Amino acid sequence: MAENEGKEEEKKFSIWDLPDVPMGKLPPHLELQRTRVVCNVDAPIHTESIQYSGAYASMGVDNSLRLDHFSNNFRVEVVRLTEEVMEFDMIGIDAAIANAFRRILIAEVPTMAIEKVLIANNTSIVQDEVLSHRLGLIPISADPRLFEYMSDNDQPNEKNTIVFKLHVRCKKGGPRFTVKSDELKWLPQGSEFVKDSRSATSSSNSKPETYTSFTCRQDSLPDFVNNAPGPKYLDIITAILGPGQEIELEAHAVKGIGKTHAKWSPVGTAWYRMLPEVVLLKEVEDDVAEELKRRCPVNVFDIEDIGNGKKSATVARPRDCTLCRECIRGGEEWEKRVALRRVKDHFIFTIESTGALPPEVLFTEAVKVLEDKCERVITDLS
Ligand code: SF4
Repeated sequence: MAENEGKEEEKKFSIWDLPDVPMGKLPPHLELQRTRVVCNVDAPIHTESIQYSGAYASMGVDNSLRLDHFSNNFRVEVVRLTEEVMEFDMIGIDAAIANAFRRILIAEVPTMAIEKVLIANNTSIVQDEVLSHRLGLIPISADPRLFEYMSDNDQPNEKNTIVFKLHVRCKKGGPRFTVKSDELKWLPQGSEFVKDSRSATSSSNSKPETYTSFTCRQDSLPDFVNNAPGPKYLDIITAILGPGQEIELEAHAVKGIGKTHAKWSPVGTAWYRMLPEVVLLKEVEDDVAEELKRRCPVNVFDIEDIGNGKKSATVARPRDCTLCRECIRGGEEWEKRVALRRVKDHFIFTIESTGALPPEVLFTEAVKVLEDKCERVITDLS
């Protein structure tokens, strides 16, 4: 009886029933250490992110990561958006997550790229392997979400392969001919190269077997009607032909990720930096203000007239600070005038797309990849 009562008591209390540690305030020096990287003249300090819940428990401050705080504070603010580049601020997130997005963008968001090159004729001075490699690096404008991955056992079909043809010849006696990416012509019906010429002649009624097995033309599919796949940039030089030289080939593009080969990476680069914070620790006036303004190569400081013929330095463009530290070099007095910091949970993120997908779509795709990973972890743990 007594044992049962004990069990019931155990059931009644769980860790979730305990009262929260109060969300008290940290003293300013600890708050600075928690939220800012301080960039001293020799090296940055407080670079670690203090994310564990008990970090300040002895001071009565709960430092645990809470979903409601995260969802209230997390923000994404787009600063600049063009067809190829997006700069945005990601605010209220840990460096590990920002870095996860960067890595996913580089290595795990899929694109289409030329993987297989069937060369019928190449009399140019560019070797077959080099030519194939160059073709592989041409960004292909085709939405990878419309295609399936192709495994080793799969047949190339209209759902996993895009076929391009390139056939160029330089006239004898004519000038040299520069072969550019615009020579890659889409073959919506699939490969034209016959796999085995004997099979084609043996049964004249059956269609000759080619290197793809398309069940329909890709241009009959609604997704491609107004959206023909092709090279994103038409002026990428792939070879230069001398008089009489010729290249005839088929290039097959498939879906892949940058982790397998850089040609599938959808970004030229994806990078971030923490938001710079430049603070004047005391009034910087007159000649010293002029000197401070002169020292900064990116013009972070301005000079303000404060009356009575006096001038004072102000921090006008802190976001432009590159952390070169020129403003705090040259003695202790400069370090006492200016503090250089970085906000630990505010990232200025830049995505430069290779052109296969717009940068804003790449970011949403990266979010989906991270979401899938989280779901897999949850499934494995449950
Ligand atoms: S660190 Fe360099 S860029 Fe930044 S404010 Fe100082 S001088 Fe300017």
